[in-house]
Amino acid sequence: MLSATTIREDSIVMQDEYLLWRDPAPGPYVPIGSVLRLPPTAISATSELLQRAGRRESCVFWYGERDGDTALVRSVRAPTQRSMPGNYHVEPDAISEMVRDLPEGWKPLAQIHSHPGMGTEHSRYDDRMISSRRILSLVFPIYGVPAAPWPQGIGVHEWQNDYWHMLSPGQVHGRLEVIAAPAVDRRDFR
Ligand SMILES: [Zn+2]
Repeated sequence: MLSATTIREDSIVMQDEYLLWRDPAPGPYVPIGSVLRLPPTAISATSELLQRAGRRESCVFWYGERDGDTALVRSVRAPTQRSMPGNYHVEPDAISEMVRDLPEGWKPLAQIHSHPGMGTEHSRYDDRMISSRRILSLVFPIYGVPAAPWPQGIGVHEWQNDYWHMLSPGQVHGRLEVIAAPAVDRRDFR
């Protein structure tokens, strides 16, 4: 894990994203009864792919099957992207390249990106960078280095009533469920 000193230095250098604080939520998030299921390998693959960017932010995507209110993560993919200490950028072409060989029927389920420190609230930049409002947006702290048992410390955001709500720990518990399932397909397009 990075030392506290290192993290503090990073947060000074990468001010860009973190100066873009958002307005507060216009109202409370209301749980919608949907569940995103994932095998433990989805978490480890995500953490490893994010850490490959070193001390820079990066993003990965989760794809899989969706059946009514239930979805299952089957693939974790990192697109070609630009990674910087305080933000990341993905071109639409990179997303097209990433999904070209996606098996029939698999859908985008979540976009995940890393933050330098422990803060995992969306910035206004994050609100703009998310590729779809029909998927979840997860933020992993400390550039993807695991710091606490899942899902503690992970910021889980869902679009509802014109706002990317950050779910409370109790709401995350109902929205994400780790289950025994086949290991995920893992791809790095960088
Ligand atoms: Zn962010």
